[in-house]
Amino acid sequence: MEYKTFKTEAVVLGEKEFTGQDKIFSVFTKNYGKIEILAKSVRKIEAKLQGGLQILNHLSLEFVKGKNFNIITDAIIKNEFLEIKSSAIKFRASSYVCNLLDKLVKGEEKDERIWYLLLETLSQVSQLPVTSYQLPVTVRYFEWNLLSCLGFKPELYFCLNCQEKIQKGNFFFSSRDGGILCQKCKIQNDKSLSKGQKTTPHIKEVSKDAIKILRLILSQNQKILKRIKTNPALLEELKELSKMFLQYIAEEELSVVL
Ligand SMILES: [Zn+2]
Repeated sequence: MEYKTFKTEAVVLGEKEFTGQDKIFSVFTKNYGKIEILAKSVRKIEAKLQGGLQILNHLSLEFVKGKNFNIITDAIIKNEFLEIKSSAIKFRASSYVCNLLDKLVKGEEKDERIWYLLLETLSQVSQLPVTSYQLPVTVRYFEWNLLSCLGFKPELYFCLNCQEKIQKGNFFFSSRDGGILCQKCKIQNDKSLSKGQKTTPHIKEVSKDAIKILRLILSQNQKILKRIKTNPALLEELKELSKMFLQYIAEEELSVVL
């Protein structure tokens, strides 16, 4: 029986052992979204395929749809991102990006926005100096825009509850509601908590500066992003905010990096 061959570009997100000498890889493709792909007897054909099937590699991929699995038939490396692999911090950032994508995207569904977001992020990380504060900003850019592509774009301009414009005062980010609450509405929310329940783990106070950076991140304007002035405290705040929101969406503990 002749199988139809599928061709696409792909980035390797991760691998897991399978039976015997076969391995399954998770890849994000330009044409089919996230797919799992079986590399038969990888160890026997090391020279041809295994070199290419490494995490982060951008490949030109060919596969056939078998009975139970997509089976890889060819992989040509387009970009190995050596600048990333030779730097511990860049590798940690990029592996995190790939793992997060692997975790949050469930089924096979084409999404070119996610494809270009992934490639753009990896190429940014590979070019930035390791000491640049742009490195954590780039990781945040990936997280929030990925969530946006997956239907979780937060409301950052108006209070979710009273619809008042976010201007002056203290503000709170609610992961459950997906956006900002004003102080009045946060107090109201706290009053509605049952006795003994002191806090809501899905709500965190957020500074005006953090809101501004998130707005820029979600405007997808990389040029403006490069001019963002930030500081360690603000970067830490953004990281904690990402962690809270991502954990709420993923429904599990996550270690957020940078
Ligand atoms: Zn409000």
